Amino acid sequence: MERVKSYSEKDRKYHLHPTTPLKANFEQGPTVFMERGEGIYLYDFEGKKYIDGLASLWNVNIGHGRKEIAEVAKEQIEKLAYSHSFNRFSHDKVVQLAEKVASIAPGDLNVCQFTSGGSESNESAFKLVRHYFQLKGMPAKNKILSRYRGYHGVSLGATGATGIPAFRQMAGPPMVEGFIHAKAPYCYRCESCQPECNGECAIDSILNVIREEGPETIAAIIVEPIQGAGGVIVPPQGYMKKVREICNQYGLLMIADEVITGFGRTGKWFGMQREDVVPDIMTVAKGITSGYIPLGGVVISEKLHREMVDLSDQSKVFAHGFTYSGHPTACAVAMKNIEIMEEEKLPENAYNLEGFFREGLEAIKESSPIVGNVMSRGLIASLEFVQDKDSKKAFDPSAQVAQRVFESALKRGLITRAIAIDHTDIIAMCPPLNITKEQISDLLQILEDSVQEVSKKLS
Ligand code: PLP
Repeated sequence: MERVKSYSEKDRKYHLHPTTPLKANFEQGPTVFMERGEGIYLYDFEGKKYIDGLASLWNVNIGHGRKEIAEVAKEQIEKLAYSHSFNRFSHDKVVQLAEKVASIAPGDLNVCQFTSGGSESNESAFKLVRHYFQLKGMPAKNKILSRYRGYHGVSLGATGATGIPAFRQMAGPPMVEGFIHAKAPYCYRCESCQPECNGECAIDSILNVIREEGPETIAAIIVEPIQGAGGVIVPPQGYMKKVREICNQYGLLMIADEVITGFGRTGKWFGMQREDVVPDIMTVAKGITSGYIPLGGVVISEKLHREMVDLSDQSKVFAHGFTYSGHPTACAVAMKNIEIMEEEKLPENAYNLEGFFREGLEAIKESSPIVGNVMSRGLIASLEFVQDKDSKKAFDPSAQVAQRVFESALKRGLITRAIAIDHTDIIAMCPPLNITKEQISDLLQILEDSVQEVSKKLS
């Protein structure tokens, strides 16, 4: 207890937390101090055990405490901790990882530039598509179309693409121009076309934006295969294929933001493989190292790469890259992480457990008067809370229903994520991919008890 108190005081004084209510942290200190992790579990300073039901920040796909990863990192640091990839320098680890990613990525997505995380990967993709159209002599084709409730990170360009109001508004008006938004395929909350239209209106919304802006001004569409931070919005069957067709029809590049859905989360290596769609560009991060070390990447098609090469001349520099693009230690860790996923068949595990997880969530929905909707695929899922199931009437935001379920679950030893956007109250789950059926049952039991507790207090 003394240790918690002491760290809490220092945390309040010295630590500006990311994505955190500042006042609450300043007045009360952090909710929890984590000490160690093993498998799907985390342990706090006082030894209390938690199921890491969100794989921390949707990223610890292989689970915690893998000694093999620590060994690989140590070995690489001792041999060559750092070397860069600017000006035609290279090293074995960056090449090995790029080749590995190419081997598991769909279609001809075979060429990779690495970054340190998801936002940097999306920034890279945005600059890359604009560079491409400049090389082609079409500099006016430079806008990026994204969707409401999409989350693409918090750096300037990535914030431009992000479609969640709180992230867009925290620093005032947009600092980067050229980001345009269409509707999300959020069928449960589709107001314009009840009964559900199977995502047609979301497709129409994209088409309308393209026609209003003019396709000659738009470089690319960026889509998350599943909109994670937006509430785990799983698009209806066929939606992504239609987006692909729109891109082909209007000459736009398709960027799949696979930062959450990549590396096994949805039961395939990449989320777009569940849709049978090959984008032109894929951005990755999180699961590529399972969070053991920061790394992201932008993966482009061989076709795009060749076109850029052909349109460049000997001296023209692709003037974009980060100090840590292709960091050897991060690449070595990513290689080991992918090897573990292959050996333990973690994408398959996510695929095989999808039905069991879904059934459990549906059972909670059936038994609870406040759960109106379940969304899930593979091992990513959410429940949406409503005041009235028939009318789908949302709770007043001041009731903070998802937040209360989050708190109740945390008390019982389960970590989830409360998502409150535009009057919707959602709780998200995204456990490590090495979770077992029994552990999913434990997770579901705690979730059900927590939902019940909050529901009783509300009635
Ligand atoms: N894209 C998606 C889909 C994400 O979920 C996130 C982070 O949660 C990002 C991009 C941004 O990644 P980072 O926080 O590593 O910059």
